[in-house]
Amino acid sequence: MPETIVDRLRSSDGPTFSVEFFPPSDDAGVQQLIGTVDQLQGLQPDWVSVTYGATGASRYKTFSAVGAIRGQTAVSTMGHLTIAGQSAAEVVRAIQAYERLGVTHILALRGDPPSGGRFAPHPEGLRTATDLVRLVKSLGDFTVGVAAFPDGHPEGDLDLDARILLAKEQAGAEFAITQLFFDPAAYVSLVGRFRALGGTMPIIAGIMPVTVPSQIERFAGLSGSAMPADFEARLRAVADDKAAFRAVGIDLVTQLCRDVLDAGAPGLQFFTLNRSTATAEILGRLRTEA
Ligand SMILES: Cc1cc2nc3c(=O)[nH]c(=O)nc-3n(C[C@H](O)[C@H](O)[C@H](O)COP(=O)(O)OP(=O)(O)OC[C@H]3O[C@@H](n4cnc5c(N)ncnc54)[C@H](O)[C@@H]3O)c2cc1C
Repeated sequence: MPETIVDRLRSSDGPTFSVEFFPPSDDAGVQQLIGTVDQLQGLQPDWVSVTYGATGASRYKTFSAVGAIRGQTAVSTMGHLTIAGQSAAEVVRAIQAYERLGVTHILALRGDPPSGGRFAPHPEGLRTATDLVRLVKSLGDFTVGVAAFPDGHPEGDLDLDARILLAKEQAGAEFAITQLFFDPAAYVSLVGRFRALGGTMPIIAGIMPVTVPSQIERFAGLSGSAMPADFEARLRAVADDKAAFRAVGIDLVTQLCRDVLDAGAPGLQFFTLNRSTATAEILGRLRTEA
């Protein structure tokens, strides 16, 4: 049986390195994505993952991108899956579609309403990501991961988040990947809260390279991930100089990676926005030091 993400996370081969992509909107975009995956292959990612959209059309694009990566590259591929806006029957069909593509790793998520606002379950749908974990595990030999939130989920609180993460593990999840964050202490304290409840699954740190000034406000708005004051101040000091901003952003995010790895993070998952250069630079530095 091929090695699973969990085998790899629990091995002594050092931290995992993986990359998240979003599905491109057309065939040309898919081919560009294959080019990016090819460039990253030199860095030997342990796997790549593809996000799952909030609308029917974007979901189709996920399967198309996953199929292309599996067909045209040798990299292991994980598919994301959400329940928002879908009946349970539609979610079952999506799981079967992944199975047909040969995808055995699924990141099980709730998703958010496409237009923003509060999540309401589909009338014939599942209610939480925990329900989805249970469903995926019941339908085949899948290895299932889930989301975790170092800065807290916007609808929850830190203690509820830890209890939900434990419920996901009890439902069959075998690893978690965090939302992006910029304060290593937030990651360390999430892991501490989870372990204190008896949770054992590995928690991979989700890392967003910061390369352009508009990211400062955008990421804080999207994920509630506040930057530590000194981190943000160093970026703002060079916000008028593109090259300096990029250099400082890469320095800061490289240090964030060092800090979470020193604290015991079993892996880093990079949110690349489908570009590879900044991730390659950060990883190159970490590997030179190792
Ligand atoms: C690594 C990563 C990848 C992601 N990929 C995607 C993607 O591909 N597509 C996409 O649309 N979104 C994606 N997301 C975003 C994710 O769908 C949202 O953050 C969503 O709001 C929460 O998803 P969840 O899986 O944590 O949901 P859940 O675990 O269901 O939790 C969401 C909220 O529901 C409530 N809740 C859940 N269970 C309980 C309970 N037992 N008791 C009381 N309250 C409860 C809590 O308020 C909780 O904060 C990703 C997030 C991460 C971190």
